[in-house]
Amino acid sequence: MIKEPQCKICRGVGKKLMLKGERCLSSKCAIVKRNYPAGLHGQKNTRKKLTEYGKQLREKQKAKRVYGVYEKVFKKYYQKAVNSRGDIGQNLVKILESRLDNVIYRVGIAKSRRQAKQLVGHGHFFVNERKTDIPSFRVKIGDIIKIKPSKMDKSFFKNLKEEFKNKKDLEIPGWLHFDKSKMEIKVLSDYDAEGKEQIFDTKMIIEFYSR
Ligand code: SF4
Repeated sequence: MIKEPQCKICRGVGKKLMLKGERCLSSKCAIVKRNYPAGLHGQKNTRKKLTEYGKQLREKQKAKRVYGVYEKVFKKYYQKAVNSRGDIGQNLVKILESRLDNVIYRVGIAKSRRQAKQLVGHGHFFVNERKTDIPSFRVKIGDIIKIKPSKMDKSFFKNLKEEFKNKKDLEIPGWLHFDKSKMEIKVLSDYDAEGKEQIFDTKMIIEFYSR
């Protein structure tokens, strides 16, 4: 699933899924330059009219690709969302957002979720003073995420710290606190969409699994 070129995935669904970090915000973004499906006849063919099932499937695929999770894992998250109290769609997004790799991406330590997954997998982080190298690890309120002290001297993190110093417009979601000087994250609350539009439609995902 993840092997497909990322821009091709966005072009297939006709929406920016923000899979490539800074490039996604630039004029180089394939959706800005060529917003039609990839392939020989992509430009000629308008996107196929999807059936209701097709639309639901597409929304589920979008969500999986945005967070970089496999079907089995995604289905497990969905079941958890169903079994939890409250709105299923919101529960699902909260679960996806609580992944450690997502949190690292959200504060800007990684430019994309894919990069965040690699950084976590390489054992660069501590959660509550314990080394945690599982990208799908779910953080909870009160957790403190730090860069492993021995990794702080790595040029990647040194440069990042410098970059953060000069950055005034760092957009940190309200449910996280990020201390740039210590490069330390604290989880303040559950994920809050803060009025932002979701890239995928959770209602359709629920319909997909309810068939
Ligand atoms: Fe998607 Fe980013 Fe590629 Fe644009 S640059 S098509 S948003 S992955």
